[in-house]
Amino acid sequence: MKQVLVISGKGGTGKTTLVAGFASLAENAVIADCDVDAPDLHIILQPRIQREIPFYALKAPVKDESRCVECGRCRDVCRFNAIDEGFNIIDLRCEGCGACAFICPTDAIEMIDREAGRIYISRTRFGPFVHAQLKIGEEASGKLVTEVKRKAKELAEREKRELILIDGSPGIGCPVIASLSGVDLALIVTEPTVSGIHDLERILGVAEHFKIKTSVCINKFDINEEKTNEIETFCNENGIHLLGKIPYDSSITRAMIELKTAIEFSSSQTSERVKKIWSEIIKR
Ligand code: SF4
Ligand code: SF4
Repeated sequence: MKQVLVISGKGGTGKTTLVAGFASLAENAVIADCDVDAPDLHIILQPRIQREIPFYALKAPVKDESRCVECGRCRDVCRFNAIDEGFNIIDLRCEGCGACAFICPTDAIEMIDREAGRIYISRTRFGPFVHAQLKIGEEASGKLVTEVKRKAKELAEREKRELILIDGSPGIGCPVIASLSGVDLALIVTEPTVSGIHDLERILGVAEHFKIKTSVCINKFDINEEKTNEIETFCNENGIHLLGKIPYDSSITRAMIELKTAIEFSSSQTSERVKKIWSEIIKR
């Protein structure tokens, strides 16, 4: 079974639009949305949720008022100012370090599992789909990405699917690193803007560090041909595989409004290019 990840150095490059297009072309694949901080692939895929799994990350302190003698030790030890003057725990500030529970002389504080998000196993018109949503203020997105990938792999094995198509997070943070783990190919989507090359260099650096095979795709290449040339030169000079270029196409927005992928919406030049890029990915 192979895993293909689509990532970008920053948000707004059209990564998810491209993944949705690939989803409609992929045969016998499990689709996974690992952009757990801001998932949006489900908007186009319109999944029917079959299973919901709670995701627990850090433990959280819970106080038993009847045991508290108001000694203030928990407040003194908390480095995150997460305990107020009345010795109440402020959930949004708490980092779950457990120091307050450890120091409490009366065992009034207990650390318990806190639900940080949910994982969904769904069906779509293109096949099975694993996705997730992190709760507001939760930070364990790398761990959640790992769980989404694990569930996608289990599903692919169970249903004898040959491919996992993953929509990754933008940027170079923890969720991206978790997304990269174990993939066979990472397609990096970039765009010809001032920050485009810089973002591309950063994400290539991360992928290279983990020895992941990469290819690059320039989206909306015709909005700035000069920057596109710069990206092409950069790729040529650094031995980076440029897989394809996609023009700006207003019909993509119309497709999204109709909750369709570029492939489903029209047989434009853009959808032909997306098909060509997908067949190149499969070859690689
Ligand atoms: S350390 Fe324990 S007993 Fe002391 S204020 Fe905090 S919760 Fe109450
Ligand atoms: S678990 Fe850590 S961060 Fe949270 S309230 Fe206790 S000491 Fe503060």
